Amino acid sequence: MTPRAPDFYFPAPRSQRYCSQCGATLSREVPPGDNRLRDLCHHCGAVHYQNPRMVVGTVPVWEGRILLCRRAIEPRYDTWTLPAGFMELGETTEQGAARETQEESGARIELGALYTVIDVPQVEQVHLYFLARALGPELDPGPESLYARWFEPAEIPWDELSFRTVASTLRHYVQDRENGHWGPHHYSLGKE
Ligand SMILES: [Zn+2]
Repeated sequence: MTPRAPDFYFPAPRSQRYCSQCGATLSREVPPGDNRLRDLCHHCGAVHYQNPRMVVGTVPVWEGRILLCRRAIEPRYDTWTLPAGFMELGETTEQGAARETQEESGARIELGALYTVIDVPQVEQVHLYFLARALGPELDPGPESLYARWFEPAEIPWDELSFRTVASTLRHYVQDRENGHWGPHHYSLGKE
């Protein structure tokens, strides 16, 4: 049972070409007093910093079964994922995880504790998964999912999971269920 899935949730953002504040062409260089390459605007002086992005999701459970969604979008079209996606501006991590769960599965859930915090530095992301208790088995997946269903732990399709963070969160969940010691688990997934 060795889950194999890639890191990519989405490709990392590319360096910007034009200044979003004044429209001038940007220059990739290390600003004075800094020690990293940045996109710098010599016209208006803006420095366009780029920072890691947060992916937030849930491990929804109904009567011992775990919810997975079949992706209807790239990357990793037609593979199984836990409901998750990029956190939006203006929302909390909990709100983002609940929103993604609603959008991708239509499941009604009660959000639980933070479960996994996974650093994925090679794709400049941090993934957070919360435990979640479903309030019923009904599902109504939105356009980002082909379909969604509940899986017994023994039915988890390890070879068809979308991303490494999904596989490793599920692996922790299955192990924790057996030994009764629940997370949170905080770790880093380096390059394979
Ligand atoms: Zn500018």
